[in-house]
Amino acid sequence: MALLDGKLLAAELRAELAPRVAAFVQAHGRKPGLDVVLVGEDPASVVYTRNKEKAAQDLGMRSTLHRLPKAATQAEVLARIESLNSDDAVDGILVQLPLPEGLDPTPIVEAVRVDKDVDGFHPVNVGLLSLGRNALVACTPQGCMRLLRGLDVRGKHTVVIGRSNIVGKPMAQLLLAADATVTVAHSKTRGLPELCQTADILVAAIGRPEFVRGSWIKPGAIVLDVGINRVDGEGGKSRLVGDVAFAEAEAIASYISPVPGGVGPMTIACLLANTLQAAESRLVNR
Ligand code: NAD
Repeated sequence: MALLDGKLLAAELRAELAPRVAAFVQAHGRKPGLDVVLVGEDPASVVYTRNKEKAAQDLGMRSTLHRLPKAATQAEVLARIESLNSDDAVDGILVQLPLPEGLDPTPIVEAVRVDKDVDGFHPVNVGLLSLGRNALVACTPQGCMRLLRGLDVRGKHTVVIGRSNIVGKPMAQLLLAADATVTVAHSKTRGLPELCQTADILVAAIGRPEFVRGSWIKPGAIVLDVGINRVDGEGGKSRLVGDVAFAEAEAIASYISPVPGGVGPMTIACLLANTLQAAESRLVNR
């Protein structure tokens, strides 16, 4: 078994991006800019947004976190996005989800300019992806595809467990575009263990700790574990586990992405790649 080492590949991707960031600064006299909107105080979201801000700054980009109170109205959030949309120094806009109760995420996600939508959640980017056209592609599935680079996916039977708009569905689109044969499974799928046993490539994006057992995995399969679940660990401390029972799976799979250190670091690196792509192409396409 070999590990799909997201930490290492994310560092490689950042090293590829660094000279492009420098070239952008040279050409445009300013840094590529990522603006993150965080509404409320959700502790996990505070950590995630800080990590994104830091990762962008470490790569030589400008990053600004815009914090709005939990009680912010729909109109206030939309107004902030509008001002970022029209600001020329803003290349990428990300609205951290989930939003506090009372805010409707759909119009908020759709308010972000398509060419600044570095999360790839705007319906136009989703549509372009499904048409196989150039788009800003959601970061997590994009990171998964980078983890699969160099491995043969053509014609391989791939089972994606999870059909969310941010992971499962775009993952299926990217795999189709890479000529895999794709089955999408979800909470209503029958006979999930047997279905998984037919998968040459298995992608787990469920949100349930160690849900996929070793016995579900076809010998020699490639396993991508997207899940991030916090569970009780030793000594009252919590620890992170994926959606796959790693200790069981590693004995059977040919490649597997660990949690932590697999898909997670790739997601952030792909956000940086999207921000740079948005900056470069917006200024070229004027
Ligand atoms: P989600 O809750 O939106 O979707 C979960 C999907 O799992 C649903 O489509 C549902 O049908 C399916 N599902 C639920 N129970 C099931 C069952 N018993 N059998 C089969 N399918 C079942 O979650 P999401 O946003 O897609 O995230 C999935 C996981 O990935 C979570 O653990 C999340 O924390 C993690 N995640 C990680 C990253 C990263 O950067 N590594 C990014 C996004 C999400």
